[in-house]
Amino acid sequence: MSEENANIENNEQVKGLNFVEEEVYNDLRAGKNGGRLSTRFPPEPNGYLHIGHAKAICMDFGVAEKFGGTCNLRFDDTNPVKEDVEYVDSIREDIHWLGFDWGNREYYASDYFPQLFDLAVRLIKEGKAYVDDQSSEEIARQKGTPQTPGTESPYRNRSVEENLDLFMRMNAGEFDEGCRVLRAKIDMASPNMHFRDPIMYRIIKTPHHRTGTTWKVYPMYDFAHGQSDYFEGVTHSICTLEFVVHRPLYEYFVKELADETYCPRQIEFNRLNLTYTVMSKRKLLQLVNEGLVSGWDDPRMPTISGMRRRGYTPASIRNFINTIGYTKYEALNSVSLLEHAVRDDLNRIATRGMAVLNPLKVVITNYPEGHVETVTMENNPEDPESGVHEMPFSREIYIEQEDFMENPPKKFFRLAPGSEVRLKGAYIIKCEDVVKDAEGNIIELKCTYDPDTRSGLPGAARKVKGTLHWVSAPHAIDAEVRLYDRLFEVENPAAEPDRDFREMLNPDSLRTIQGAKIEPFIIENAKRGAKFQFQRIGYFTPDYDYADEHPVFNRTIALKDSWEKAQKKA
Ligand code: ATP
Ligand code: MG
Repeated sequence: MSEENANIENNEQVKGLNFVEEEVYNDLRAGKNGGRLSTRFPPEPNGYLHIGHAKAICMDFGVAEKFGGTCNLRFDDTNPVKEDVEYVDSIREDIHWLGFDWGNREYYASDYFPQLFDLAVRLIKEGKAYVDDQSSEEIARQKGTPQTPGTESPYRNRSVEENLDLFMRMNAGEFDEGCRVLRAKIDMASPNMHFRDPIMYRIIKTPHHRTGTTWKVYPMYDFAHGQSDYFEGVTHSICTLEFVVHRPLYEYFVKELADETYCPRQIEFNRLNLTYTVMSKRKLLQLVNEGLVSGWDDPRMPTISGMRRRGYTPASIRNFINTIGYTKYEALNSVSLLEHAVRDDLNRIATRGMAVLNPLKVVITNYPEGHVETVTMENNPEDPESGVHEMPFSREIYIEQEDFMENPPKKFFRLAPGSEVRLKGAYIIKCEDVVKDAEGNIIELKCTYDPDTRSGLPGAARKVKGTLHWVSAPHAIDAEVRLYDRLFEVENPAAEPDRDFREMLNPDSLRTIQGAKIEPFIIENAKRGAKFQFQRIGYFTPDYDYADEHPVFNRTIALKDSWEKAQKKA
């Protein structure tokens, strides 16, 4: 451990810092960059953000918040072929939803195209860059291997004048895409492959969503990123581990601009990988384009927008990311941890109500016909402020089909012929008779109730083993309910390179139920984004498709982790 770090150990302020925060703290304490802290989140607008991006967002914005710095949003829009404004808009919305704000510091790598171009020209003039007329395939073939040096391009020693002339003409649109590139002249024998005359600019003729047809040459990531950091005043360029090998090149280019008063630096942490899903934007785009999901915000997608639609909360995502932390080693994180964080937060905030997904009608034969009373239900036992609501009770109710068994096993504490259960918040009922249709399907139960067992009455304390959720049949509203499961049936689809990832999709990732019965209070409060706990079933939220004439609810998550249970059994 360095002396710096040893000192940190004794300082209260740095207890519990992750290693990136420690680095930042050390730089600030050492007075680097005039004591300034500026980070950036640099999405490429070629897809919607996913939960992996959320990890980067929490880091970039979080560290700035922690040490009184700022975080920019910078769109890394250097490839017009794949980029789109739709993605820009969604990225903004998702970051805000996660709870972060970049103020007026919204930037684009394309803002720096003029400065980048000038720098490229300067490097050409200084003999540090040249135009190569070879195809990218040819250039790749000459790269060599980590053990053997590469081959120098036959165009490597062109004159400055010729290079300048060709580069200008590349940008004027005189040449076809792919027939010339600008390369940095560094070292074809470098042990770091990224130093073997990396490509700085390529020709692209597709118009850019911001700069139109101004440019015909576009900078490569390695040439654009560090310089954009510099132009923007970024001090800490935090990214993921795959960029460790790019860091020397980052430093090489940035040195062309920086001095001892200000120089950005790159720090890398481990990516978020999640079980039972994929995180590659290319694959996610494929799922969308091929209609394998309903869109980027399909509630099964690992996207921020999908999770929002599914009913996940920003706090649960942030808490999950906090739990898994930041390290220097790649890992695969269990989606159960994320789901645990979602349950945890929803348990605190969700409004309790009753819904019956697969209804079985119960007629209470000794309850007066046409009579309705209301019972009082707690809105949220976790939140004393949340109050109560009234729920109608009448002669005909629905219970869950699976809460009744005609020939129950020993420990079945729900309803069976001759047995008693409590209806949550209301009376104890006893099953007297089972009504079947011609095919022998159970279509109705005849029960009696004990009028003395409602809360406030002497028999309220009478104990029975089972308590069921229920809704009053004439008052319940029909709804569609969508039950989601994991998108893939394979724990780590990315680890099966020989299989087409689409073959590993879970065929049961969406189950739709029509004719679920919902208590009126839930329907009255079913605003977009509302969070409910349907008692004994799980957490639900109104879907975007919700309409008054056709209510639709997404199940965000079941109350318990059924996969964990299944795995323990196996
Ligand atoms: P692409 O292949 O399109 O470059 P990308 O996943 O790297 O995909 P970017 O839009 O370039 O997407 O990512 C923006 C930022 O988010 C980068 O700093 C990147 O390191 C970070 N990021 C992307 N995926 C993850 C992940 N799974 N975990 C943590 N950070 C991530
Ligand atoms: Mg990227």
